[in-house]
Amino acid sequence: DTPPDTPVTVPLRAAVAALPAYVPGARPSGRAYKLSSNENPYPPLPSVLAAIQTAAAEVNRYPDMYATELVETIAGYVGVGADQVVVGNGSVAVLQHVLEAVVEPGDEVVFPWRSFEAYPIITAVAGGTAVTVPVTSAGRLDLPAMAAAVTERTRAVLVCTPNNPTGPVVHADELETFLATVRRDVLVVVDEAYLEFVRDPASPDGLDVLRRHPNVVVLRTLSKAYGLAGLRVGYALAAPRLAAGIRATSTPFGVNHLAQRAGIAALQPPALAEMIEHVEAIVAERTRVADTLREQGWDVPETHANFVWLGLGERTAELAAQAAAAGVLVRPFPGDGMRVSIGEVAANDAFLALAAGWR
Ligand code: PMP
Repeated sequence: DTPPDTPVTVPLRAAVAALPAYVPGARPSGRAYKLSSNENPYPPLPSVLAAIQTAAAEVNRYPDMYATELVETIAGYVGVGADQVVVGNGSVAVLQHVLEAVVEPGDEVVFPWRSFEAYPIITAVAGGTAVTVPVTSAGRLDLPAMAAAVTERTRAVLVCTPNNPTGPVVHADELETFLATVRRDVLVVVDEAYLEFVRDPASPDGLDVLRRHPNVVVLRTLSKAYGLAGLRVGYALAAPRLAAGIRATSTPFGVNHLAQRAGIAALQPPALAEMIEHVEAIVAERTRVADTLREQGWDVPETHANFVWLGLGERTAELAAQAAAAGVLVRPFPGDGMRVSIGEVAANDAFLALAAGWR
């Protein structure tokens, strides 16, 4: 046996050794409300559970490597060719494969900050150099500043709309101006993880954008609106040649059998109708939570996702700890702000009571 004090002499890649940790939302212990990971508070739909149960009896076999039926189901649902769809183990994995497909060592990847905390990690893992552009004081993406940050070394730009964790969407005209400005050989990822919660008519239709700009990749997920966070199903929509590149960098058998069958079930018309009802209820709760916070005197950015953002600055860590002690788990970004998912009514009420006390 190797003695425990033998030094490890295998070097990690410099970029890997320097990676920031991805801090996930706290796991609830006991009876806590979990508003830390933008999850769907509704339990899985009965038809989805039934599909998972059937699939469970088949897990001695490998899944369909290319998830053909799931890909075809998504293609039909979205209205693109199956050669334009790539699925993966959550959209975070799909995004990693997107960057691995196009980023050469040292290429620049431009993204807003603060935004989805996986962006800097995935960029570094893919060998890229992160170039961050601050969001505005209203939590909006500054697309003109992002366009100005593009250099001849830029290979990709990540556009998160709605932006996690602040909430606003980009507008179709802003995105159009941006796409007209950036070189055609720069890949623009439009991350629409929260698409189904968007109620702003000025928000772009990613698919329409993709049709007119072949350098765009649209990223979507079944984790949020469709309630499959625990199974990990995300997808990219892209021009066939880019889609083939993303498929080539993808982990073999990256979407497991239960996830494939559940994903297919979630996209059938009766399940979709239930999904839409749940999303409507979450959007109504979002309006109630945001309005109540504003009545309490908080400055809440406009949100089109299933969360709200409180820019608490230096108070963030302390107040998040208070919330956890009171049984409400939120997502603190220490020194900056707190993201609070929209959950079940009782969870939202518990959070609103805490927020009132903090004023
Ligand atoms: N994009 C954004 C903007 C997100 O907020 C998230 C989840 N937090 C993801 C992508 C990844 O979601 P998943 O891997 O579950 O599909």
